[in-house]
Parts: sequence; structure tokens; C-alpha cells
Amino acid sequence: MKNDATPAPNFIKNIVIDDIKTKKNDAQVRTRFPPEPNGYLHIGHAKSICLNFGIAAEFGGSCNLRFDDSNPVKEDIEYVESIKEDVHWLGFEWARLHHASDYFEQLYDYAIELIKQGKAYIESLSAEQIRTYRGTLKEPGKESPYRNRSVEENLDLFQRMRAGEFPDGSHVLRAKIDMASPNLNMRDPIIYRIRHASHHQTGDQWCIYPMYDYTHCLSDAIEGITHSLCTLEFEDHRPLYDWIVDELNTACHPQQIEFARLELEYTVMSKRKLQQLVEQGLVQGWDDPRMLSISGLRRRGYTPGSIRDFSDRIGVTKKDSVIQMSVLENSIREDLNHRATRVLAVLNPLRVVIENYPQDQVEEIEAINHPNRPELGTRKLPFSRELYIERDDFMEAPPKKFFRLALGREVRLRYAYYITCTQVIKDEQGKIVELKCRYDPATKGGSSPDGRKVKGTLHWVSAAQAIDAEIHLYDRLFKIPNPGAEGDFIQHLNPDSLKILNHGKLEPGLGSADVNTYYQFERQGYFCLDSKDSRQDALVFNRTVTLRDSWAKIEKAHAHRRR
Ligand code: ATP
Ligand code: MG
Repeated sequence: MKNDATPAPNFIKNIVIDDIKTKKNDAQVRTRFPPEPNGYLHIGHAKSICLNFGIAAEFGGSCNLRFDDSNPVKEDIEYVESIKEDVHWLGFEWARLHHASDYFEQLYDYAIELIKQGKAYIESLSAEQIRTYRGTLKEPGKESPYRNRSVEENLDLFQRMRAGEFPDGSHVLRAKIDMASPNLNMRDPIIYRIRHASHHQTGDQWCIYPMYDYTHCLSDAIEGITHSLCTLEFEDHRPLYDWIVDELNTACHPQQIEFARLELEYTVMSKRKLQQLVEQGLVQGWDDPRMLSISGLRRRGYTPGSIRDFSDRIGVTKKDSVIQMSVLENSIREDLNHRATRVLAVLNPLRVVIENYPQDQVEEIEAINHPNRPELGTRKLPFSRELYIERDDFMEAPPKKFFRLALGREVRLRYAYYITCTQVIKDEQGKIVELKCRYDPATKGGSSPDGRKVKGTLHWVSAAQAIDAEIHLYDRLFKIPNPGAEGDFIQHLNPDSLKILNHGKLEPGLGSADVNTYYQFERQGYFCLDSKDSRQDALVFNRTVTLRDSWAKIEKAHAHRRR
């Protein structure tokens, strides 16, 4: 699908290629995608999924799905299930499914080992005290009075922590590294804390839980991960990652490699912020089609292939950058241009009566399902005296460049006939309610034997056979490119991000539309059936994306005006 000849940069792939060449890790490649099950996955996670699974697939390796579930309070089984569904839907199969919580016993044993080596101690200062003792970037930290407890005392206290003898917050286990390190992460980081909380996998088996930094590197090592790929904010954590794995002398020492997170314009990209939108009812749920969650994109009509293609296009680098929304939209447009069945659908109907067309006649008009894919065949559309056209396709006082229908003007109805508008009917408020037209029977199929040309071609549906539908038009969820960076992001929500049209009229075949089919409503955009709210007797269609990038035009116009 990608027609750009130069592949996007991917420095991690180059590292892997070198490692294979030098037979590092016996030329094996094992990666993992390690989400914390505390929310639904978003398009940023898709970048990490495509990278981890993609590298494993390309180099004959394997990729695990591992739930980094060491924080029971924020996690939930609902998220575990949704993450599995999303990874599968994106088209990937994990070699093994793991939970960091599977390793709790092993992690505990490793902690005992650190204590025995004199490399970890029980801290009994309060959280507040720990913070002050830690120092700042400019000042070294201060050693805790508990730092030099004996191994025996540490072992005893740690075992009693596990046994549930102490309340939350009374003690923690800390790695004994260097309180003067310029890297704050190395100033005796906490590696275990007491949490009397039930865990979605281990229930009430534990009341002490390992911290993320400690859990992550050891889980990687236990699984024999060769390349541990993570985002740039973990760069400063790498020395700690290496320290833990070195001190415990694990059989495998994974290499942590950091890359830039995906940031996209006009959205927020953190589970916490997306959760806030859901909890405050500002969107319908995690799968609201305006959300850039994987489930939202799926419901919006994005294909898995388009998301994988997007992730290839943006590449993998160490430099933070913000990707324009048009890159994502172009990926789906290209895919749907190839994939989507063309249909006629009127979003905002205006009734047309063809006065010289026989009263009860219905004829069948042949229509093409895809302009570039003849193998997709044709279909028959009913044509009759009463039709609907798009309200915007008629103007009473048309400006110069308006080539569609106007009083006295002739246009083509797609696949059908030329029609000329002869009369405009209005209601008492002056609103146009109907157009009277005449058709030329000689123009069947859309051309005139006398060579007469028309400038406009309109889509239409036959009124009697049309299927009613509600149409949802989506726009960007936020008004500004970087809502996360400027004050409270909620205030930047775009109030017009969802427009509901209640009176859509569709060609009859769409009555049996299914959620797995992608459509192009000719001249309108790409649409799909809404997988949640659509019912057989009340169809709902979502606009996935417009046919062209209308924002590019708007932005260009703004730039022009500013000059
Ligand atoms: P969030 O801040 O949205 O909660 P997270 O990084 O805390 O994201 P995790 O569940 O820990 O979410 O992420 C799983 C994996 O996905 C991690 O390896 C993480 O680095 C990666 N990831 C998360 N967000 C992005 C992003 N925007 N771009 C690329 N990778 C990401
Ligand atoms: Mg996280």
C-alpha cells in the first residue's frame, strides 16, 4: 500500500540487524509488548505493538504479550481483555502470554537475594521523609538512618512485610545503590511496598507489591527478552535496569532501547487523560469513534492494515516530534480507496419529483461497485419518479462556480439521466421542500446522444426504496493542535466534533450492510456501520474519514491570511 519509495527511518531495526550479524544473543530476537492493564490501548500503543511484533516477525523471532500488572489498585480485568482483543485485531499473535504477577514469587526470591548480598534494605522513614532525604538534581541525597540495618534484620522485616504484619506505608524495601548519584533513579530506589489490596490475578495472596522498575527488567530477563524496547522517558531508568539485572546475574541480560513516543496533533495521548474524558461523560466511552483508542478507531471504521501502515510511515527515532493528523487520515484513505464498495447515499435529503417520468414506473439502473476494480462487479439501483438528492446540491441563487443544480439548469444524475430543474417548492417559512424537474429519456446511462454536456453529476436515491439511517459525522476532538500542553485540556474540546444527521437516505442494498464492510458514500466520504448503536430497524453509519483532506485547505487558508 505504501508508495513512498524511501522507507521511514527505524534505528532499532538497524541495531537488531547488527546484533544478528555479530551473533549477539545467538542471533536470536525476542521482544515483548508490556502494557499496564490500567486503561484501553491507544494509537501510541499501536506504534509500540507494531514495532515489537514487527521486528520479531521480520527477523524470525518471537514477541510476548506481557501485562505489567504490579500495581493492583489501578488495574482491572476489563482492561486485560480489551488489550488482548486490540492486539489480535491489529493482526498480531503473541508467542506467549504472561503477567508480571506470574513472577511475584520469583521476584520475591530475587529480593531476598539482594538483601542477602547487602544490596537492599528495609526503609522505615515515612514517604515524606524519603522524599526530603532523596535530595534534588543540584544536591546529593542523604543516607537514611535505616540504610545500615543488618542482613538478618532486613530479612526478618521483609518476611514480616509479606506476612501482613505491617500497615501500608510503614516500611518499603529499597535497593542500596548511591544516594549521591547524579541520577535520582539511582538514589536507593524503592523496589517493594506494602499494599493491602486485592490483585486481579493473584487475589489476596500478596500484600507487598514490587515496583515497576524492579518488576520490568526482571520480567524481561525471566522471559529471555533480547531487545527491551520502551519510550524515551525511561532513558534515565536504564542505569537502574542494568544495575538490577547485573546484581542478580540473571541468565539473560536484555538490552533496553528507548524510542520517541508517538504524539499526534489534535488529541491527547495518555490513558489517564483519555480516562478522564470517559469518566466525565465527555465522550461515549473508550470506544467513542472520536477517541484515538484502538477500539475507537475500530468503531470509526479504521482498518488494522491502515494502522500498521501508519506506524511504518512515521518510523522509529530518538527525536520527539508531533505527527500531523493527516498522516493517519491518509493511511486510512488510501486503504479504503482500494477496499471500499462505492454506494449512493444522501445525507441531507431534498425531494425531487420528475414530472415527465411515468407515475408508477421503477426501472433498474446499473451502477459500478468500484471504479478501479472491475472484479467487484456491478449492482442495480431502482430509479423512479420521486428521488432524493443532497440539499447542498441545489442553490436558488448559485454563485459563479456552483456547477450543481439550479433553477433552469441541467445536471446528470449519476449512472441515470440528465434532469433540469423547473420549479422550486417552499413551505410557509420559505424553506425549500421539493424540486420539480424534467428528465431527458435519451440520456439514459448518463450521456446525451446529441453531445450535450453538463457540468455537474449528483448522487441520488429513489425515494420509495430508500433506507433510512442516522449518520454520524466526526471531526477532531480538540480545537487546537496540542491540547495537552496548554492548560486544562478539557477546555480545548471541539464542541462540533460530532454532528448527527437524522434523515439519511441510502440506496436499498445498504439495508443489509454489516460491520465488516467498508463503504464509500460517493462524493461524501468513507463510512461504516456503527458496531454498537446500529440496529436492523435503526441503522447508524459513522463517517470514518472525508474523501479529501479538508483541514489542509483550512490550514492553508489561515496561513495565507496571516501573511
Ligand atoms: P500512558 O501514558 O498512555 O498510560 P504508558 O506508557 O503508561 O502510556 P503502558 O501500558 O505502560 O502505557 O505502555 C505499554 C507500552 O506502550 C510501553 O512500552 C510504552 O512505552 C508504549 N507506549 C505507550 N504510549 C506510547 C506512545 N505514545 N508511543 C509509543 N509507545 C507508547
Ligand atoms: Mg504506564
